[in-house]
Amino acid sequence: MLNPDQAKQIVLEHTTLKPPQHVGLEESLGLVLQEDIRATCAVPAFNNSAMDGYAVLANDLIDAAPDSPVSLEKIAYIPAGIREERVLQSGQCYQIATGAELPPGADAIVMQEQVTVAGNQIHFLHGPKTDEHVRFKGEDIQENQTVVSRGALIGPAQIALLAAFGYAKVLVQSPLEVVIITTGSELIDVDSPLEPGKIHDSNSYMFAALVREEHCHCHRVGIVEDDPELLYEVLKTHLNADMIVISGGVSVGDRDFVKEVLKKVGVEEIFWKVRVKPGKPFFFGKKGQSLVFGMPGNPASGYVIFEEFARPAIRKAMGHVLLEKSLITATLEKRITERTIRRQYLRAQLRREQDQYSVKPLPTQGSHSLSSLAWSNALIIVPEDSEELPEGTQVQVRPLANTIGMPS
Ligand code: AMP
Ligand code: MG
Repeated sequence: MLNPDQAKQIVLEHTTLKPPQHVGLEESLGLVLQEDIRATCAVPAFNNSAMDGYAVLANDLIDAAPDSPVSLEKIAYIPAGIREERVLQSGQCYQIATGAELPPGADAIVMQEQVTVAGNQIHFLHGPKTDEHVRFKGEDIQENQTVVSRGALIGPAQIALLAAFGYAKVLVQSPLEVVIITTGSELIDVDSPLEPGKIHDSNSYMFAALVREEHCHCHRVGIVEDDPELLYEVLKTHLNADMIVISGGVSVGDRDFVKEVLKKVGVEEIFWKVRVKPGKPFFFGKKGQSLVFGMPGNPASGYVIFEEFARPAIRKAMGHVLLEKSLITATLEKRITERTIRRQYLRAQLRREQDQYSVKPLPTQGSHSLSSLAWSNALIIVPEDSEELPEGTQVQVRPLANTIGMPS
């Protein structure tokens, strides 16, 4: 049986980059940029006011102070978006909005709070320095400067920058098309009432959510019964996706047909079973460029396999540098007694106090346990063949995206 490091390496070796494509700016969140973005204009694009206030000639107000105000005549109000062409003369001022272009001649802004107003006569209680509260053209970004480099992960701030330079579309590494199929004759969809012996399908929603976290396109096919013929039909029609996540039926039960049907539709088995707990019956296969992840049906098993093997593959295919959520070191708050020859991933609660992480495994670790999955925010990674780990041991922890959903 493969160890998890070998298994991950094999998964990544079989994972290739998709070609880049142009997407609309709003679809680019979480994707990796495949072109250098240059500033199409300077930022700010023109000299403008940093404050709501008055545009003045600093020289007019050298003597202005709270006990000896200087008065200037207000000529007009300049709202944001309107250009004033008339040159400011000595003895005059313009009222001006934040972001409005500085009128010609003006060389300083006085904040609105530092004047008193009597009709068109503005009494200045403060003499500004030249250039005070003026934002100059190009002081943030020069025209033609590279502002985001190829390879950057696009987040909300990068989207703002792209919008500022008029990029309605950007070249990115394509998001993956992921199909999620869930198998099991015991499964009922979320909107139908339970029947005796049946359970609601939670895995397909869990995998869809995990896939969406990575900004992939996700198609949830829904439930397929444990019937080789039905399974064959469904698999045949969905094998052109970049990734197929198929839940359940990969173990050794009499009704676990997924492996044999995958073979029948032409999926090559790359490996089956990895020395991990939970998640041992994980199947990985390939057809053409399509990666097939056969996930064990128990929810915690599927979650761990996704986190450790599928997420890195998705990230590699989408051009990320960081393939997984970074591991951190934490102090064990409660001893771990269970020892196995497999690497264990224990659902746990991680907390941080004064720059120190501490972590506590949850008491229920059954691979079927949804509660411990929802009540954890991290996985403790217990090395294979390890001895009992006493309280205080430094352990490796994989933080998860969720916060602890445990009722208080
Ligand atoms: P399997 O891997 O098909 O043998 O399933 C193992 C266990 O996981 C069984 O108890 C199943 O009922 C449960 N299971 C399988 N599929 C799902 C699912 N989609 N949602 C929730 N539990 C599931
Ligand atoms: Mg099953």
